[in-house]
Amino acid sequence: MTAPVALVTGAARGIGLAMAQTLLKAGYRVMAADLPGDQNWNYDLGHAKGLDQKLSSVATGAGNEPSVAVCDLDVTQTHSCTNAVAQTIETFGQLNLLVNNAGVVDSGPIMTFSEAAWDRIFAVNSKGIFLMSQAAIPHLKTAENPSIVNTASIAGKKGVPNMAAYCGSKFAAIGITQSLASELAPEGIRVNAICPGIVGTAMWLEHLMPKANAASEVAVAFEDRSAELIPLGRPQTGDDMAEAVLYLARAENVTGIALTVAGGMEMN
Ligand code: NAD
Repeated sequence: MTAPVALVTGAARGIGLAMAQTLLKAGYRVMAADLPGDQNWNYDLGHAKGLDQKLSSVATGAGNEPSVAVCDLDVTQTHSCTNAVAQTIETFGQLNLLVNNAGVVDSGPIMTFSEAAWDRIFAVNSKGIFLMSQAAIPHLKTAENPSIVNTASIAGKKGVPNMAAYCGSKFAAIGITQSLASELAPEGIRVNAICPGIVGTAMWLEHLMPKANAASEVAVAFEDRSAELIPLGRPQTGDDMAEAVLYLARAENVTGIALTVAGGMEMN
């Protein structure tokens, strides 16, 4: 049997990088995709440049078969999504698992929140799932144990103040997950989501925490805040999320769920 193939979006760093590494270690061949270059946002985003070096140490392809490849991707652009899927098929010949992980955050009171930020958040976090799924489904249909895993959030299960755009986009991600799970079940394609709690990536350390604290205090404040909010007492890690993706990729009778990985912070 040939090794299964995963396409992971937003794979340059943080949760997506951990997912790509874990999938490689588990024997998947991985197309790791992220933005082509620096993008203007309220904190620096990741980019695909240099990503192959980050992943090559964990890539253990059999014989001459490549086990990791990298491509540029902007999940808000239709042609970019179809290109990323086409490159995956060209490189590996199949696609078994699509991980829609790319995401952006912004926060602030609704009355001063910019329309441009609102649109961008929905374009990446919600519409990106639609565009990537549309590109991938024809190939998933012919693959063994095909599935899609979307990175939603606990913010997609309960609204919090000053996060209307982000929460709305993640509620949408869960709704899309459930709808596609029903629609694609007859094709044998499973669709699930994971809902991370608090992971110390750029989203938290460069955006959500600095709004409340001086830069030098961010790391300590992040740990304190996590301990205060999370019953199990520690923030989540990218590896926690990657293990959940691996479980969902393998769980042949599980579809339509939004699996919370949040140390007990959210229990619905
Ligand atoms: P991150 O900012 O480190 O990673 C997000 C990645 O997505 C970046 O590499 C970025 O370049 C990429 N990206 C952004 N826009 C893109 C686009 N248009 N096309 C392609 N790639 C794009 O943050 P992270 O915490 O690793 O976030 C990963 C996912 O986890 C996101 O969907 C996020 O909403 C979700 N999430 C994170 C947390 C957390 O606590 N960090 C909690 C819940 C959910």
